[in-house]
Amino acid sequence: MKRIAVLTSGGDAPGMNAAIRAVFKKAVAEGIEVYGINHGYAGMVAGDIFPLDFKAVGDTVRRGGTFLYSARYPEFAELEGQLKGIEQLKKKGIEGVVVIGGDGSYHGAMRLTEHGYPAVGLPGTIDNDIVGTDYTIGFDTAVTTVVEAVDKIRDTSTSHHRTFIVEVMGRGAGDIALWSGIASGADEIIIPEKDFKFEDVVKNIQEGYENGRNHHIIILAEGVMSGAEFAEKLKEAGDRSDLRVSVLGHIQRGGSPTVRDRVLASRMGARAVELLRDGIGGVAVGIHNEELVESPILGKEEEGALFSLTEKGEIVVNNPHKADLNLYNLNVDLNKFE
Ligand code: ADP
Repeated sequence: MKRIAVLTSGGDAPGMNAAIRAVFKKAVAEGIEVYGINHGYAGMVAGDIFPLDFKAVGDTVRRGGTFLYSARYPEFAELEGQLKGIEQLKKKGIEGVVVIGGDGSYHGAMRLTEHGYPAVGLPGTIDNDIVGTDYTIGFDTAVTTVVEAVDKIRDTSTSHHRTFIVEVMGRGAGDIALWSGIASGADEIIIPEKDFKFEDVVKNIQEGYENGRNHHIIILAEGVMSGAEFAEKLKEAGDRSDLRVSVLGHIQRGGSPTVRDRVLASRMGARAVELLRDGIGGVAVGIHNEELVESPILGKEEEGALFSLTEKGEIVVNNPHKADLNLYNLNVDLNKFE
């Protein structure tokens, strides 16, 4: 392969720039040219494709967001959109593509591979909700941001003896809530993967204050419900504490990537180029037990594919994501860490 392209798609995540940079540098070392595609699949179809050089990737390893911009472009799920995109790749002589994004973006990578343009997926999302990898690019930074914010919320929570519900991102996954909750010493962590009862939360809050605690921090994953709804239900269940809701929102998606995210993104970016160099597409790179691994994006579950097709042609996720509940199984009594 003499020329490849790289794009970022779906929700952005800190570390995407580090991955783009690694793709470029590894490719140069392999004698492969690299083009950048702006705005994900939308830019591919529009022909917004340009050669990357050292200047373009310079000083990006520490920058949040993605300098290639990201976009959602549902038209790429249709054959017509895919063929238009391929036409543009053909015009530029591009033979393979690195797609940095979530599982939606992986589907696009699969389609490109099926049309004869090998594409490799890299997991770029703060949510850590992608099958086939222990960690996604951006997760560590997002959790660090949440912990810094909760440390500050705790100060004011303590001063006023207030109960805080801190709503964090994660889509359907509780990873951000679980990790940030443990790292910030939260009193309660509510995630979609584990059932809970409002009555129990009310009881914990009451007992905490009775025992002399001067704050109560609840980390709530957005996949459970909104902070406002949670507060309503808590009051309905009998909570009488001075309750506040804090929605951290998009600050979780930005910021300079942590060391972990920079290194992870760099390793994965380099691996993606090795795969394309060897003509391999339709796979996603992941990390498992600190080793880089690859899984086929679409195929049979028993062969390690991330997704399978049913007889009706529907795409199903194999091994749906589960948060790392082992942390819970340790029976960590969070109160002991106060
Ligand atoms: P994420 O990649 O973070 O999961 P999305 O689900 O929004 O985000 O997907 C990102 C983009 O990937 C979409 O806007 C679309 O361009 C492309 N895409 C999503 N699903 C498919 C599909 N089934 N086939 C081809 N391309 C897809």
